[in-house]
Amino acid sequence: MAAYEYETHDYDVVVVGAGGAGLRATLGMAEQGLRTACVTKVFPTRSHTVAAQGGIAASLSNMGPDHWQWHMYDTVKGSDWLGDTDAMEYLAREAPKAVYELEHYGVPFSRTEEGKIYQRPFGGHTTEFGEGPPVQRTCAAADRTGHAILHTLYGQSLKNNAEFYIEYFAIDLVMSDDGVCQGVVCWKLDDGTFHVFNAKMVVLATGGYGRAYFSCTSAHTCTGDGGGMVARAGLALEDMEFVQFHPTGIYGSGCLITEGARGEGGYLTNSEGERFMERYAPQYKDLAPRDYVSRSMTMEIREGRGVGAEGDHIHLNLSHLPAEALAERLPGISESAKIFAGVDVTKEPIPVLPTVHYNMGGIPTNYWGEVINPTKKDPNAVVPGLMAVGEAGCASVHGANRLGSNSLIDLVVFGRAAAIRAGKVVDADTANPDLNQPSVDKAFDRFDGLRHAKGNVPTAELRLEMQKTMQADAAVFRTSKTLAEGVEKMTAIAGKLDDLKVTDTSLVWNSDLMETLELTNLMPNAMATIVSAEARKESRGAHAHEDFTTRDDKNWRKHTIAHVDGPKVTLSYRDVIKDPLTTEKEGGISLKKIAPKARTF
Ligand SMILES: Cc1cc2nc3c(=O)[nH]c(=O)nc-3n(C[C@H](O)[C@H](O)[C@H](O)COP(=O)(O)OP(=O)(O)OC[C@H]3O[C@@H](n4cnc5c(N)ncnc54)[C@H](O)[C@@H]3O)c2cc1C
Repeated sequence: MAAYEYETHDYDVVVVGAGGAGLRATLGMAEQGLRTACVTKVFPTRSHTVAAQGGIAASLSNMGPDHWQWHMYDTVKGSDWLGDTDAMEYLAREAPKAVYELEHYGVPFSRTEEGKIYQRPFGGHTTEFGEGPPVQRTCAAADRTGHAILHTLYGQSLKNNAEFYIEYFAIDLVMSDDGVCQGVVCWKLDDGTFHVFNAKMVVLATGGYGRAYFSCTSAHTCTGDGGGMVARAGLALEDMEFVQFHPTGIYGSGCLITEGARGEGGYLTNSEGERFMERYAPQYKDLAPRDYVSRSMTMEIREGRGVGAEGDHIHLNLSHLPAEALAERLPGISESAKIFAGVDVTKEPIPVLPTVHYNMGGIPTNYWGEVINPTKKDPNAVVPGLMAVGEAGCASVHGANRLGSNSLIDLVVFGRAAAIRAGKVVDADTANPDLNQPSVDKAFDRFDGLRHAKGNVPTAELRLEMQKTMQADAAVFRTSKTLAEGVEKMTAIAGKLDDLKVTDTSLVWNSDLMETLELTNLMPNAMATIVSAEARKESRGAHAHEDFTTRDDKNWRKHTIAHVDGPKVTLSYRDVIKDPLTTEKEGGISLKKIAPKARTF
């Protein structure tokens, strides 16, 4: 057994992650007087949420009529009927409250002439239950909405005496023998010390795993660490086959151009200068949801109408918009286009390509953020002491496809819900039970094994192999053949984790070792993704299967549950929650309205 000395910290709640979800949970916990620690591997305001541009959805009706029921309907349809209806209702209902809270906390939203929060149109957000024109529902702080939210929530958390442990890397969960989460084992990156947090509630808010792919819009830190920890604890991951490709990553760098660019009037063209989205989505055109637009773009390229020397990308046009509007509403992306594509958006189109952007799947939870570990006997069995929120979690409100600006609202609505729930289930007056020592030792043994790994494959090499395979075989379009080959290749790649070579054994700022830990987290996420995708014999949302081109509600309107053990993935399924929280009589939405139908735009 590896002997590492460590300091133990005692809290009511420890939140792992300081992005929008982690900070909103931290703030809500601290406001109630719970002793709250927030552990984060990067400085809070450097979390990926800082890069969110376009905005946050809530039916405030500042720019025209809107209702939470319309927002709920769009979310249900956007999810391609795979989201859990109770959670989607909770999201749409609570969204206005959560946004006004942000406003009162101090988020500097853009304003209308009358001083109300400015809202822009975004893909898939409509009026009249999908029958009316697009709605302006997405609240924005120019094109730096995530930045504004993150800075405000961090300041508020400090004000409420939450304690931050910054540049601490969470290695593994501490679990009791009877399956209660008791805490988390951490490595302090800047001085090489170790810290074990003992808490009544652990909240995983570790973000997505975009870096399992070669080209993605997310930060290098988005390595699915929460999913990795959960998989190693023998718990489940849900709906991992649903990976969102954003239509407008800058060609080459993958850097994001927000959907807000199309919301403000931008449009896509092919090599013939044609606005091709008019053909695929006559009603909503460039503002159809992301899976739809990404597939349409891919089809144009495949059929020989891509732009550029190799005909392998598409143009996004903004130059027809007034220069003042670009400067006021889209300053950040004008700058990104200049730096990453050498393009002046007032004069030329931006070269773009669908790029991995968001993970709809994640750690399964109920709409309070409590982690569930579905079993045959109880599909809603809660894991005591463990919550997951934000992109790491799967509540599931995005189902098979997330609508733009529905993630930022998911972060704050469910970060807040987790805090409300913790206020009820965490008893701050009792002492924390002792940590299960074998579980702590197991985490250190794993860490030590990786630190002294003397195999043949450097971490960076294996990571690249994984990323290229995922990019090629679990892409926008999938076939039985690519998926089967992908599973085989990925199983071999995951097997090579046992043959890793780490050259630096030091404990202070050892980025090689940290990236190795991250790779061991990316891998179970990637394995669950490709194995779940291979098994799903239909097309739904972001999962576009060329051999099974239609949605099959009879056999496949169900969540995939994946248990990952090394290179081995075991799948089972869980029913979609079809009932909303309230009936039509109680002011809710009628079941008839949200009954599955073909998803056209
Ligand atoms: C470029 C870009 C633009 C986007 N724009 C929008 C938008 O306009 N609207 C919208 O709704 N959505 C948008 N999204 C999606 C949305 O921003 C993300 O889904 C969301 O920010 C994720 O937030 P999070 O709090 O879950 O995680 P993150 O913000 O990714 O934060 C993760 C946190 O976990 C910590 N962490 C991770 N692993 C560990 C570990 N092992 N130990 C300790 N700490 C750890 C990190 O330090 C970090 O603090 C965008 C995404 C991208 C990539």
